Amino acid sequence: MDNGNFDIVVIGSGVIGHSIAFRLKQDVPHLKIAVLGDPVNSLQASRAAAGMLAPFCECDKADQFFRFCRDSLDKFPLFLAELVSVSEVPVHFSPAGSLMPASNYRETWEERKAFFLRENIPHELWSMEKVRRKAPYLAEDCGEVMWVGEGQVNNRQMHDSLMQASRKLGIHVLEANVSGFIRKGSTIASAVTDSGNISGEKFVLASGSWSSQLARVLEVSIPLKPIKGQMCRVQLDDHFMDFTLHGKMTYIAPWREGNGFVIGSTMEDRGFDPSIEDEVIDRLIAKAAEILPALKTAPLIESWTGLRPAAEDLMPIMGKSVKYENLFYSSGHYRNGILMTPNQADYMSGVIRGTLCDEILEFSPTRYNL
Ligand SMILES: Cc1cc2nc3c(=O)[nH]c(=O)nc-3n(C[C@H](O)[C@H](O)[C@H](O)COP(=O)(O)OP(=O)(O)OC[C@H]3O[C@@H](n4cnc5c(N)ncnc54)[C@H](O)[C@@H]3O)c2cc1C
Repeated sequence: MDNGNFDIVVIGSGVIGHSIAFRLKQDVPHLKIAVLGDPVNSLQASRAAAGMLAPFCECDKADQFFRFCRDSLDKFPLFLAELVSVSEVPVHFSPAGSLMPASNYRETWEERKAFFLRENIPHELWSMEKVRRKAPYLAEDCGEVMWVGEGQVNNRQMHDSLMQASRKLGIHVLEANVSGFIRKGSTIASAVTDSGNISGEKFVLASGSWSSQLARVLEVSIPLKPIKGQMCRVQLDDHFMDFTLHGKMTYIAPWREGNGFVIGSTMEDRGFDPSIEDEVIDRLIAKAAEILPALKTAPLIESWTGLRPAAEDLMPIMGKSVKYENLFYSSGHYRNGILMTPNQADYMSGVIRGTLCDEILEFSPTRYNL
């Protein structure tokens, strides 16, 4: 293995780590970059997600987080075009939008409508008559429905595409598990891994739910923990429904191209628990079938568990370390890391190269003195 001095060592091979490496390499082609991690870690969030690109259905106030997610949604088509032109691994992306049935938002429905109007969010209110014409597969008692101008991506394909792009760009993708660091004062010299020591000028901690474990080795305490999500995928014809459907405590996202529909998801504070419970999956499907009755008989393809990296304040942690001169963080993307990928990559490239003008304080590691 080439473990000579890298300009940048990214620890974490999910969508966050790979997209940072991809953007840096596009911005500064001569950089020597390594991405470390287990690319198919069974619990990693990047392959577990549903791929919803949903800043509008997920947010209810126009704060920095909302603006960052919205900008990221806008960046998606160009980001994917650029990625696929390098990797030649296609990624399914759909701008068809999301549906929010009124019946699931009883108490907050008027608030949601006001928010969408105030923030100039692309949306359309469908009467029950229009719902019957445009989405006849919805349960009769869904009531009126809001169509929202969001997107959806096949996140597994996006992760495959990022990994392939990294290889093609000459980024060193190393299946190496980091267990420690060699430090010189307030500088990190090398990452200690099961494949030897890997030295670098700058280090980026992008290891999702495992970031707090790794930071502990550096005597840094990140208030971040995994929030487990159990999910499943069922077989329904591609053309059955174009939209992502948001229900109460459930969502249904089309993966298309014969890949069926993903149904999500639980939110469980149970540490690094990899278990998948049949009765939980059955309940998810039953809940989703309340708004999409066809799911009652749709064959189950697979079920899985993934871990969302959640900081205490549920905001991402992105920026330069306070304690180490050459350490950077990009973690804590929680429920929206797929959505944030393009904007996050641009932001982190700016932070690492020292060209970023407007640091977002709400996301800064300084808030936890990291
Ligand atoms: C069930 C579920 C559904 C989701 N749905 C959506 C959605 O619809 N839309 C959306 O935008 N977001 C969604 N998310 C959130 C999104 O998936 C995450 O925010 C995002 O994938 C985080 O990416 P990451 O690269 O930081 O972490 P991960 O994908 O978890 O990757 C972490 C990486 O760190 C590596 N690593 C860990 N420890 C070490 C170590 N010691 N040494 C080296 N490497 C290490 C691992 O091998 C792994 O490669 C969902 C998440 C889950 C779990």
